[in-house]
Amino acid sequence: MPQNHYFILAYYHFVSIPHPKEEIAAHKEFFKGRDMTSRIYISEQGINGQMSGLKQDAEDYMNWMHANPLFDKMEFKIHPYHENVFPRQTIKYRKQLVALDEEVNLSEIGEHVNPEQWKQLLEGEEKPVLLDVRNDYEWEVGRFNGAICPPCETFREFGDYGKELKEQVDPKKTPVMMYCTGGIRCELYSSLLIKLGFKKVYQLSGGIINYGLKQGNDHWLGKLFVFDDRLTVPISEGETPVIGTCLLCQTPIETYYNCANMDCNRLFLCCPTCLKKHSGCCSEQCGQAPRVRPYHQQDAHKPFRKWYHYFKEKE
Ligand SMILES: [Zn+2]
Ligand SMILES: [Zn+2]
Repeated sequence: MPQNHYFILAYYHFVSIPHPKEEIAAHKEFFKGRDMTSRIYISEQGINGQMSGLKQDAEDYMNWMHANPLFDKMEFKIHPYHENVFPRQTIKYRKQLVALDEEVNLSEIGEHVNPEQWKQLLEGEEKPVLLDVRNDYEWEVGRFNGAICPPCETFREFGDYGKELKEQVDPKKTPVMMYCTGGIRCELYSSLLIKLGFKKVYQLSGGIINYGLKQGNDHWLGKLFVFDDRLTVPISEGETPVIGTCLLCQTPIETYYNCANMDCNRLFLCCPTCLKKHSGCCSEQCGQAPRVRPYHQQDAHKPFRKWYHYFKEKE
């Protein structure tokens, strides 16, 4: 077993940052010369960050952040790991921390419930709508038992889904429980539901990551999709049923690949047999495409870096 000398941190905070460019510069200065990788976005709205680094550097970073009045209440979710998990140090300005076409009022958001309360709500009498506000490829490999994945092409269209949901249930009476990976997406999407007239909207505080750390696997199926080299991780110790299935033959599987057709590059779940049979492609058509990567380049454990381009608009 490799030793876990690294920490992976996940965190976000909505706070008015008057000079985001200065915060970015300060971050870059802090990261300089350290064995840390990251994907950190900062805007006037706040910060959304993930980083990995040697334990000591990660501790220093958290202390450094907490010493900044803008970030003194930041909650960090911590996972020990044996190496860095992001392709490089990315610290960038991004106008919208979560992609959404509508303005939302962040002072009217869904009620934060901690993992323990979340579990109680799941076990309660009321039949809530359990909404997974992540992308379908995240939902496919792991989710809370009974969760719905809204049929959105991208979550920019979440408002349309909210309007549909309003037709199906009584927005004044039906509770909606909403969760995502680390919590940031729920802040905005829950606000949107409230704007549409939903009265009982709950969001899982700190997301699935926090739930796994505090509450374990209860009510959870499969693995958690993460936006780094690990791709999928267990949310806690112990076994969970495999719910992902091979796109091509429906065998239960939890391993993602990028389609070897470089013009497709779709991330898909695939079993070893189908992967070999289709030379790493997601379909027959992709197998016939002009720009196909050699099959031997497929590696389940390190996604193609181009994958980040592919998903850069999604989270
Ligand atoms: Zn298969
Ligand atoms: Zn393909």
